Amino acid sequence: MSIVGLPEAAVREAKDRVRAAIHSTQLEFPQRRITVNLAPADLPKHGGRFDLPIALGILAASGQLPLDSLRETEFIGELGLTGELRPVDATLPAAMAAAAAGRGLVVPAPCAAEAALATGARVFAARTLGEVCALLRGEKQLPAATPVPSTVRSEPDMRDVRGQLQARRALEIAAAGEHHLLLCGPPGCGKTLLASRLPGLLPPMTETQALEAAAIASATGREVAPGHWRQRPFRAPHHTASAVALAGGGSEPRPGEISLAHHGVLFLDELPEWSRQALEVLRQPLESGTVTVSRAARQCEFPARFQLVAAMNPCPCGWAGDPSGRCRCSPDVINRYRTRVSGPLLDRIDLHVDVRRLPAAQLRPDAPEGEPSAPIRARVEAARERQLERTGLPNARLDPAASRNCCRLASADQALLERAIESMQLSARAMHRILRVARTIADLEGSEAIGTAHLTEALGYRGFQPQALAA
Ligand SMILES: [Zn+2]
Repeated sequence: MSIVGLPEAAVREAKDRVRAAIHSTQLEFPQRRITVNLAPADLPKHGGRFDLPIALGILAASGQLPLDSLRETEFIGELGLTGELRPVDATLPAAMAAAAAGRGLVVPAPCAAEAALATGARVFAARTLGEVCALLRGEKQLPAATPVPSTVRSEPDMRDVRGQLQARRALEIAAAGEHHLLLCGPPGCGKTLLASRLPGLLPPMTETQALEAAAIASATGREVAPGHWRQRPFRAPHHTASAVALAGGGSEPRPGEISLAHHGVLFLDELPEWSRQALEVLRQPLESGTVTVSRAARQCEFPARFQLVAAMNPCPCGWAGDPSGRCRCSPDVINRYRTRVSGPLLDRIDLHVDVRRLPAAQLRPDAPEGEPSAPIRARVEAARERQLERTGLPNARLDPAASRNCCRLASADQALLERAIESMQLSARAMHRILRVARTIADLEGSEAIGTAHLTEALGYRGFQPQALAA
């Protein structure tokens, strides 16, 4: 028996597993030369997922199963030597493809609940090769799989964030318009705490979005968590992560962190500590919502529509600007530290906000709790609704033409914006981003017109201080 069509080691070993499984199932392994052709030939095949289809192909070709029985159904699964079916990765995307082709799908029982999430899928759970053969001979039915249930949301709550009014406000605006956010402040001031609350402020994912996110998790071999698969992803890779870990890749290209954050939040702490190479891979997906991974002659495109929350200390020691005066970093050192993050990346982050260390009084256990997530999410959803009615997109994703259309300013405000852009030496891209943030602030207020207060608040998130113009 030989297997052709770029099989990798685990696939070549299918020979032995398939032979043993067929014997254990009291069926006959044909005593003749067998060639298994895995098409298309130029696509590398990996893993044990082809075992079940190879075994069924051999049994049908040798007349032990009716050929017709294979027509309406697809099969995926690894075989154990005694004929049991073992779980494999990526059954959800397989079920989505089978449903789109109008066919049923037989999967190993442990994968059934995940595969059954696919809309319109007919998924059957099998425990052994023998059960599948009985199904195909019409001797036995297999149970139709029921999807993983989704439970109520249980994300971390804004209630735990004390004080930090400015950062809370920025987080709400970020959630409302899907804007990227940069938090800058000393160690331990709550940047991670704030970032982890963003998924709980976002509107619930649509069915399609939830499935896309779950399919990516499934494709990387992660179990789709029962009960949580409809929650927005939150990924927080460490700053030592490589460009490949972030963007995806490898000998059999797999999605990386930015794809695992698809429709959710990507949190990058210690931004200046990341390698330039790693941060560089963010640029394309920040614009397009997809990432292209090249490997030799092949290219893969993975979805990567994430919302970025980045965090950094204001200087190498972390205490620049703190009233305690602890920071001893020279302006030169501070400047070098900040320019480690490339300008074009910062340019793509709409909201820059300083997070201060909390005064001791607000850290006491009896200090008042912050506003909980639920009412904030209600305001966010109302603002998002206005955006979707207007353009079908969250404000952060408007193109320049659309933002010119829906972000009109009164002439005095237009003049203010132009002077501010000039004094801060910002790019045209940054100007559009400021307009889109102003649009979101107006939407949070339920206002169709963008007023002076909305514009100046938006300018503030790019570090603009009105005194700068007076000087
Ligand atoms: Zn310092």
